[in-house]
Amino acid sequence: MLIAIDPGHGGKDPGVVVGNYKEKDINLGIALKLREILLDKNISVVMTRNKDETVDLQQRCNIANKNKTDYFISIHCNSFTVPSANGTETYAYPRSLAGRNLAQYVQNEIVEMLKTTNRGVKYESFYVLKRTVMPAILVETAFMSNPQNLDLLLQKPEVFAEAIAVGLMKLLQGTDYKQVDDIEKLQMKGIINKHYDPKSFVTWGEFASVIIKILEGTK
Ligand SMILES: [Zn+2]
Repeated sequence: MLIAIDPGHGGKDPGVVVGNYKEKDINLGIALKLREILLDKNISVVMTRNKDETVDLQQRCNIANKNKTDYFISIHCNSFTVPSANGTETYAYPRSLAGRNLAQYVQNEIVEMLKTTNRGVKYESFYVLKRTVMPAILVETAFMSNPQNLDLLLQKPEVFAEAIAVGLMKLLQGTDYKQVDDIEKLQMKGIINKHYDPKSFVTWGEFASVIIKILEGTK
């Protein structure tokens, strides 16, 4: 199991700035803590950045795609012109069932552990969700523009990290690893051409192609 962690912004791009606080730093703090927690659980991690540096959006996707990570988790903070706006929301790519599942688990855990307002799981074609080939989510942890939320982000970054990790673990526990391995074997034998999510559906067209490949391969 290999997870890509993407701390939003960095280097020349600070993201949201409130007073002396920059989103890029808060995102990185949560991301590094998340990496530590996952490594402790024997889950491998690749980071799109692990220090304060400029990494463009396509580079972030390339890092995950090249490493063939199983999931992609992008970490951000929200902001709005009105300081009363607050809470947590998690994004998945439209119609990505696996992405939606992960988003829901992570969203539930953050709201549960940090008692933030539940703004729900949403769908958006954000660049890093669109250009990554694996199930991907973008977590808007809380609002830097809301004083109470900013306090949470500054004082409990490790709880945000823990919540994301627990959400991911709960999703993985529901995944049948034997099936994941079987799918990988079929892919290596050239019978299917992608690493499919075990819970995704097969069309008749794909089914026919698989049967033909098996029949022709056994001649
Ligand atoms: Zn951001």
